[in-house]
Amino acid sequence: MLRKVLIANRGEIALRVQRACKRLGIASVVVYSEADKDALYVRLSDESYCLGPAPSARSYLDQSALLDAAALAGADAIHPGYGFLSENAGFAQKVADAGLVFIGPSATVMRTMGDKVSAKQSMLDAGVPCVPGSPEALDADDEKTKSLAAAIGYPVIIKAAGGGGGRGMRVVDSELTLHQAIAMTRAEASAAFGNGAVYMEKYLLAPRHIEIQVLADTHGNAAWLGERDCSMQRRHQKIIEESPAPGIDTARLQEVGERCARACERMGYVGAGTFEFLYENGEFYFIEMNTRVQVEHPVTEWVTGIDIVEMQLRIAAGERLPWMQADIVRKGHAIECRINAEDPRSFKPSPGILREWIAPSGPGVRVDSHMYSGYEIPPFYDSLMGKVITFGASREDAMARMRVALSELVVEGIQTNVPLHQELMSDPAFIQGGTSIHYLEKWLAERER
Ligand code: ADP
Repeated sequence: MLRKVLIANRGEIALRVQRACKRLGIASVVVYSEADKDALYVRLSDESYCLGPAPSARSYLDQSALLDAAALAGADAIHPGYGFLSENAGFAQKVADAGLVFIGPSATVMRTMGDKVSAKQSMLDAGVPCVPGSPEALDADDEKTKSLAAAIGYPVIIKAAGGGGGRGMRVVDSELTLHQAIAMTRAEASAAFGNGAVYMEKYLLAPRHIEIQVLADTHGNAAWLGERDCSMQRRHQKIIEESPAPGIDTARLQEVGERCARACERMGYVGAGTFEFLYENGEFYFIEMNTRVQVEHPVTEWVTGIDIVEMQLRIAAGERLPWMQADIVRKGHAIECRINAEDPRSFKPSPGILREWIAPSGPGVRVDSHMYSGYEIPPFYDSLMGKVITFGASREDAMARMRVALSELVVEGIQTNVPLHQELMSDPAFIQGGTSIHYLEKWLAERER
């Protein structure tokens, strides 16, 4: 087993990883910025190090400070959580060079999956279905690009190979604006990601976001843990996730899930990972892979009974997956609502002092959160206060429990998006299930009219 893990993150995920370490009897060390000195994960830790001032660049993204803290603490592994350095191949390499275990795949695999063009190429090689598009990055040959777009059919989307966080994308409706859109996306991508490579895909009009969770060990075995539906999004940010995804073609899902697991084995993938797909008219189209634990991992944990973070630690210690694919049986339905500190109408962040926080509880309710009464939510980081997850025998059961849980949640002093979740939990289209990734934005626009 690992002896001591440094948790290179903050907030609810730092707490989540700390819990998993404690549960496995592994010592853990946490790090924090000056703005996070009173954070719950710091209060509950056995050992902690201040990285520096509040801005992420000078704390949670400071690679040398993290490696120094790991050395000082005598840690033998680093868990990167999500966000921050979790998908930074350069950091994973430095961790390995320092003789520590990076809890995730190798830097080489992260580099391949971090470039969307090479990621797509390796998925195509593994037989994972992808969005039709340019097989490589676009070159300067305008005529070739035009005929490619015509063959794919408009609208197309121009995407940055190094893009992330929903940035570096542009939809093109006709040949008239194609050249200009490519030039603009290229320029933006160079400035934002230091990589001007762009590629083209068919723009799907009303897809759902369906993703597949995988776990792979260091012995060449991989398994998939079912899918999640994360279509309820605003500005490419997920706010509700659930598993299973309602009304999916299960035979096709089975096939694609198997392909994802085999793709992991082929590329020597290690740890937890997520294959993200757009799903339209019964077909899956791979868009990207996240080489880390996801915010929404609890819904999968609940329906499979598998502790994904614990598995990340076991895998990093060299253990084999303790079950075969056939042993993974999913039961019931789980839904997650992300609770954000923000104005529910304008979505402006609402940091400040949380005068009161009473979390819901009871059968079928899980709350992953770093909030407590009197905590001051700092303005420097994302606005996620935590996640309320409910479980039920059926989707209706899980939703009914979510309605109760949201009504029990008491938050005083700041604003949250709970009213939005409450409205969505009684929205007929959401209740029916299967809404597209554009549903929430349209719904919000409609509400403002
Ligand atoms: P990022 O890494 O920035 O999150 P993704 O490739 O995952 O980029 O795409 C982000 C979002 O953009 C998707 O969830 C989807 O909403 C939209 N999108 C991306 N590619 C397409 C496409 N080919 N057709 C329609 N929508 C797309």
